[in-house]
Amino acid sequence: MREPSLGNPQNTVAVLQKYQFNIQKKFGQNFLIDTHVLNKIVQAAKIEQDDVVLEIGPGIGTLTQYLSCAAKKVIAVEIDKMLLPILADTLEGFDNVRVISADILKIDIHDLVEQENGGRPIKVIANLPYYITTPIIMGLFESHVPLKSMTVMVQKEVASRMRTGPGSKEYGALSLAVQYYAKPYLVANVPPNCFIPRPNIGSAVVRLDKYEDPPIEVGDERLLFQLIRASFNQRRKTLANGIKNAAELDFSKEQIEQALVRLGKGLNIRGEALTLAEFALFADALIKDKEI
Ligand code: SAM
Repeated sequence: MREPSLGNPQNTVAVLQKYQFNIQKKFGQNFLIDTHVLNKIVQAAKIEQDDVVLEIGPGIGTLTQYLSCAAKKVIAVEIDKMLLPILADTLEGFDNVRVISADILKIDIHDLVEQENGGRPIKVIANLPYYITTPIIMGLFESHVPLKSMTVMVQKEVASRMRTGPGSKEYGALSLAVQYYAKPYLVANVPPNCFIPRPNIGSAVVRLDKYEDPPIEVGDERLLFQLIRASFNQRRKTLANGIKNAAELDFSKEQIEQALVRLGKGLNIRGEALTLAEFALFADALIKDKEI
């Protein structure tokens, strides 16, 4: 097994120059150039020798080299075809890596996990493209891809959204979804100078440890997330109005009010004041009232 050669500014610039690679902003390309951060990601992900890792967006293969040395197998999905010859070069000798040329939002990840790990849970580890962080994370959770954890680099602000609760401006649909599916940990804050090119914002590595069972019980998981989306799509409206205005929900004013009374909340409460457990109680109360 080879040792990582990438992870510092000189070698990254040398690779980019060798291939005269044009960095694509539209693909959220910010390449890691700091060995401390790379080692920290690998350490935080607690990779074991029999782990199969899915890396989203290997770029020029920097993190991929580190993951290859720690895991049984690495599946790296990259959208930018111009990076394929570079990856063939930088990953030469890293024999447990399979590069897939595809858009992560379009491939069947269940199928991939079935093929590559017999359907057993994998670990997702990535320096994510920031323009699609939320759809990637939500997609992986909501489609119930078998996974143990995700260790991902995201915008600093997104990392705080994942970990916050009612009363904070950052509290929203992402906070509730992440907290329903996983326990989030902040691994490290990462400044812009750890990347080429430098992003305009700070970044952070978070690890999301997937729960075997969600921390709260709810009768209808789909309804729970429809309610959450409805209330944060119209954040400044009351919860009742948010639900009435949501095209995908069909509850009368009376049903909503009855459910709020059952919840013990005033009729003017906003969704942003409810915890995950309260959203679940509210979803159950709505169904109960619909059945009566
Ligand atoms: N892992 C590399 C590193 O840490 O240096 C690159 C990280 S860079 C922030 C994000 C990577 O995701 C880029 O290589 C980009 O081309 C790729 N990417 C962007 N959108 C993607 C998508 N929809 N599917 C797969 N890869 C994508």
